[in-house]
Amino acid sequence: MSILLKNGSLKGEKNVDILIEKDLIVKVAPGNSIKDDKAEVFDLTGLIVLPGLVDLHTHLREPGREDAETVATGSAAAARGGFTAVHAMANTLPVADTAGVVEQVWNLGRKVGLVDVYPIGAVTVGLKGENLAELSAMAESNARVRIFSDDGFCVSDSILMRRALEYVKAFDGVIAQHAQDPRLTQNAQMNESELSGKLGLTGWPAVAEEAIVARDVLLTEHVKSKLHICHASTAGTVEILRWAKEKKVNVTAEVTPHHLFLSEVHCQSYDAKFKVNPPLRTDKDIQELRKALAQGVIDVVATDHAPHPTEDKEGEWSSSSFGMTGLETALSVVATAMVETKLMSWSDVARVMSEKPAEIGQLSDHGRPIAENELANLCIVDPKVSWKVDAHDTQSLSSNNPFHDMTLKSKVVHTIFRGKFTMKSGQVQK
Ligand SMILES: [Zn+2]
Repeated sequence: MSILLKNGSLKGEKNVDILIEKDLIVKVAPGNSIKDDKAEVFDLTGLIVLPGLVDLHTHLREPGREDAETVATGSAAAARGGFTAVHAMANTLPVADTAGVVEQVWNLGRKVGLVDVYPIGAVTVGLKGENLAELSAMAESNARVRIFSDDGFCVSDSILMRRALEYVKAFDGVIAQHAQDPRLTQNAQMNESELSGKLGLTGWPAVAEEAIVARDVLLTEHVKSKLHICHASTAGTVEILRWAKEKKVNVTAEVTPHHLFLSEVHCQSYDAKFKVNPPLRTDKDIQELRKALAQGVIDVVATDHAPHPTEDKEGEWSSSSFGMTGLETALSVVATAMVETKLMSWSDVARVMSEKPAEIGQLSDHGRPIAENELANLCIVDPKVSWKVDAHDTQSLSSNNPFHDMTLKSKVVHTIFRGKFTMKSGQVQK
């Protein structure tokens, strides 16, 4: 059965009809011009058509923490959020630091079949920051790993970071750094500021992130390798990235939806759903992060979807886990923060949430033009709708979404993955 998408707005620019047969886009033509009696027809008038979204930073928790998320539930949440590909972080149990574990995650993703799941390999054995993991074995495995990260932990040892950067050059890999100086953030709970003092929570200074970003930019330049900065959260990090890009250092960076939208002020509630690593920062940081994303100084939005069971998020602030879910709200948060404010167009959204992340992950099947003979991976958005987030209405096994009860603009209505609806009219097609 073929699918005919009628009169959708291609990245918000011009209206088109899109005819899909099997897994391919076979025809793209001006709006309301294609006729096909045998196709299942969907009227997309007023809706935006984007390439399927790609997340560079997802915690799927399987293997090991299937009480928080599984590859199946995380994939369903991703499909609901408009994603057709996600990168699964390595901090599972066991850690994804061998060819065996990354292939296990890759196979689980294929079995579920709602999105492409690309495992990220650990940089160091057990994320311990002591010995390099089997990077080339993971790169050569069926999972074809290209991104390596100890996310959750920083590769803080300079010589180990240098070796990792050197090592991945052999297969054009990239080291994705969780930039957090461990000594500067011991027991840290929230952004270091006047407010942290007032709330009596140990401060997490911006410099703990910026010192690592600066060091790693310099190391990357020194050994001529590739670096990706996870979840940039401060104005100072933006300044360093701007400098690095002017110097043509091979560095890319991501920002999360929550760091584009929520400030440290939320911590006043002592509600641990606002507890995240790196912490929510100030309004000034938010403004600089938004500007940097619009200008391309920050390359992509990545969710850092980090599911936690209720018991890990409902205790006291200091004993609760760091992390927020985000796959299902990412597009809406970006639309509200960046499109509604006229900082970005829908074509920019396609760039930062699909094209660029696919390029960084070296994915040939995603982030592609919406054109004939391309795979039909699409995300279809209603830009007019306003909706109130209900954290409990989720495909994820966890409900620690910080946007609960907030009103967002724009919503993903359909997701098409390799020619099949994985979400149709808001319903995930399992
Ligand atoms: Zn992280």
